[in-house]
Amino acid sequence: MLGRMPHIKTALPGPEAQKMLALDRRYVSPSYLRDYPLVAKSGEGMIVEDVDGNTFLDFSAGIAVVSTGHCHPDVVGAIQRQAGQLIHMSGTDFYYPLLAQLAEKLAAIAPGNFEKKVYFGNSGTEAMEAAMKLARYYTRRDRFIAFYNCFHGRTYGSLSLTSSKVPQRRNFGPLLAGVTHTRYGNPYRCPHGRERAECMKDCICPDEIENLLFRTVAPPEDVAAIVVEPVQGEGGYVVPPPGFLKKLRQIADRHGILLIFDEVQCGMGRTGKMWACEHDGVAPDILITAKGIASGMPLGVTIARAEIMSWGAGAHASTFGGNPVCCAAALETIRLLQEKYISNAARMGEYIMGRLAGWTSRHRTVGDVRGRGLMIGFELVKDQKTREPNPEARNQVIQRAFERGLLVLGCGDSTIRLMPPLVVERDQADLALDILDGVLAEIEK
Ligand code: PLP
Repeated sequence: MLGRMPHIKTALPGPEAQKMLALDRRYVSPSYLRDYPLVAKSGEGMIVEDVDGNTFLDFSAGIAVVSTGHCHPDVVGAIQRQAGQLIHMSGTDFYYPLLAQLAEKLAAIAPGNFEKKVYFGNSGTEAMEAAMKLARYYTRRDRFIAFYNCFHGRTYGSLSLTSSKVPQRRNFGPLLAGVTHTRYGNPYRCPHGRERAECMKDCICPDEIENLLFRTVAPPEDVAAIVVEPVQGEGGYVVPPPGFLKKLRQIADRHGILLIFDEVQCGMGRTGKMWACEHDGVAPDILITAKGIASGMPLGVTIARAEIMSWGAGAHASTFGGNPVCCAAALETIRLLQEKYISNAARMGEYIMGRLAGWTSRHRTVGDVRGRGLMIGFELVKDQKTREPNPEARNQVIQRAFERGLLVLGCGDSTIRLMPPLVVERDQADLALDILDGVLAEIEK
């Protein structure tokens, strides 16, 4: 039993962690980005134990993946039962009940009152590759419109959409031709220099697609799809203004363009509804999700209007995609989310946002607080007036929080994101916020 609260008992990293770090340094790809030396051994609910017996409160959820907490007993039970019965068969060549059963469930819960079909891969990036290929296949058009600061994955198709940080693209070109980027609605940093109130009333970012891109570089009749995160994740936990998604829907409909929502990070209950786009009442033609869908088992899905998923046999497939063990974990995860954890995400999200509300007055380094449900970010700045990003302060906060037993990660230029498992309880949220509050006060001295 790991308990419910963190306990640090060695200097960090501890002696066992140091051995593992040396091994990792010697043999593991240096492309991974680790903010601090956590070497995890076990997890339970909100708590992660490291190899030296230190325990941490996890506000990162394995990057928004362990939606039902670490090793939820019902999910572990479903995985163990399925592993004892059938680990693999490959849905590309054979049938097994779980694949169709999970597809039925996903079609029922995905937004939009129309028939849907589901494709299964192993990750977010694979789900996006499938969405891109499907959009081209169905429309017979080849262009895509995506947004600056968005993240959609790291394989060549999805990377061509991704525009979150330069190291993700540097030295990897040429990328897929035909992707045009435009600006994402951001009320704190309006790309048009407008004030928050104006931006919230009528975001004009989508207008640029029609007024600029369609008239200059991207003929609308060549555009297969507009691809967007309903809440921007890696790019800074940015909630777009009301009406942003609706305008995209209207533009897509006017020109026979498909709308693809990437709910890899913001989906599966994280925002307090099953899908982030439900907050705006807009349904996409294709929705992708992954991360939180199976509580840590690798699974990525592409859900499309049935008439759009019209590709023929052999057009696209994956050996492992929709593996039976992952499907069992996903069905159990969805059951738990619907039963109690989505409502907990809404409730706890509201509670945390309530506590963070005064932080821009209380902390001179906090420029903005924003979020939906348990997808919450606060942005650190050098000066609240100029809003100059403060990545040094952000990195210091993350490091010091770790030393006090709290796991958080950054995103965007200088945002700290709070993305705990959806099982988080009030006293755990209070402790996390107390730690962050204290660390901020320290670095502001
Ligand atoms: N899309 C979004 C919005 C993401 O946040 C991510 C990963 O962070 C991906 C796609 C890619 O997912 P994966 O790392 O599983 O390929």
